[in-house]
Amino acid sequence: MEDYPRNLSEFEVRFASEEACREYLFRLRWPDGFRCPRCGQGRSWPLRGGLRQCAGCAYQTSVTAGTIFQDTRTSLQLWFRAMWWVTIQKNGASALGLQRVLGLRRYETAWTWLHKLRRAMVRPGRGLLAGRVEVDETYLGGEEEGLRGRHLGTKTLIVVAAQEDGPRIGRIRMRQIADASAESLLPFVAESIAPGSVVHTDGWHGYSPLGTKGYVHEVTKLHGQKKAASELLPRVHRVVSLLKRWLMGTHQGAVSHKHLDYYLDEFTFRFNRRTCRSRGKLFYRLVQQAAAVEPVSYEKIVHQRTPRPKPQQVRVT
Ligand SMILES: [Zn+2]
Repeated sequence: MEDYPRNLSEFEVRFASEEACREYLFRLRWPDGFRCPRCGQGRSWPLRGGLRQCAGCAYQTSVTAGTIFQDTRTSLQLWFRAMWWVTIQKNGASALGLQRVLGLRRYETAWTWLHKLRRAMVRPGRGLLAGRVEVDETYLGGEEEGLRGRHLGTKTLIVVAAQEDGPRIGRIRMRQIADASAESLLPFVAESIAPGSVVHTDGWHGYSPLGTKGYVHEVTKLHGQKKAASELLPRVHRVVSLLKRWLMGTHQGAVSHKHLDYYLDEFTFRFNRRTCRSRGKLFYRLVQQAAAVEPVSYEKIVHQRTPRPKPQQVRVT
């Protein structure tokens, strides 16, 4: 039962109250009816302030507990507006844009919200790519792309998988990797592509074990210039050029290393739904996934992976 507003007027009518937002979240979170997170029992009754009490163990919980909306000091209505705005942006959302449209006082609030929402863009347990899939790795930023200034030489390696859909591109997956070794590439393939699929790569030795890992490995060797890659693995390279354009356009080409994975997730979320005619459906997916993602604090977003954020940035050209 995919039930979502189809346009802004429907959205405004539908989510005009806190109660309406809570109700919607409730149905997306427990589509088969409420289950107590502690004892798994189904009977419960509503309490004031959006709480619910389990009839079995008396445990009290709320529809936002254990989701990205947990402990939020702002209304669900504002969150819903943010999610609507994020999903109608064709080219991705910027923190400044979100701050303006919601009238948020602090830029940091908009930034944190976007990062929380980006975490919800990857569906837990999402399906693997299958059929014929192109895989290649590429650098974002770096000297050879004609960078100037003090960020010279700051590069990030990403690996991209693009499913073939006739001559077109089907779904994609991408991730930041430490290096182009088999130890970095194979786990990405295993987590992104279903066994039995045809994986099409260039002759790089990091991919050579693929044939022994349950895949049909198809290799196209690149003779001479690396530039020919765009013709041999056209889908991956088309995705990479769209990604670079998006990072340049929406984020002014400056995205920090440690947050790059989340930008990649947002790009993937939008790309995989680019043919989806209804923005409302994207909104529905985002709310649904937001209700299934663990809460995360501002501190954790800022300090993830590295103990202190570094001013270093990936410059995309
Ligand atoms: Zn219970």
